[in-house]
Amino acid sequence: MQNVKLPIMVDPVRAAQNQLELDAIIPKALLSRLAESTISIQSDIKTAFSFDIDKQKLRIFNGKASVAVELICQRCNEPMIYQCEAEFKYCPVHNQEQENNLPDAYEAIYYDENGEVNLHQVVEDELIVTLPQIAKHAIEECQQSKFELTFGEVDEEKQRPNPFDALAQLKHK
Ligand SMILES: [Zn+2]
Repeated sequence: MQNVKLPIMVDPVRAAQNQLELDAIIPKALLSRLAESTISIQSDIKTAFSFDIDKQKLRIFNGKASVAVELICQRCNEPMIYQCEAEFKYCPVHNQEQENNLPDAYEAIYYDENGEVNLHQVVEDELIVTLPQIAKHAIEECQQSKFELTFGEVDEEKQRPNPFDALAQLKHK
């Protein structure tokens, strides 16, 4: 695995002019908000960014980020591994008007006072959004699956034909 670290701040105008491609990692210790949202982060975060100027002459960037994290299964309360996969398209903007005029394909991100954007923050926000509201093991891996199966049987029982229905039909004949 390559170990190029993703720069924190990038000038997206210059990067777009150079059609910059980044294939880099973020050390997991740097994403404290993601760490707080999970039990643990399993590895450094893999990211890929490509900066470009689109057909409408907008400076944009596409990105991907992935990492496995540990969450608590809400069904059995045991830890589980969850693979976060984020994909995103951003267009840096200076003001609300530019933001309002963006094509739907892009999310807006504001330039800071130096004309730069924070890529680590983008990655962290995007990864947090991929976390499930309620984490659960796949049913076959969950400690609680026996419990769920029992429920399944009960449900089937309910669906058995009601003998009184059969009786009612006889009466109608
Ligand atoms: Zn579980």
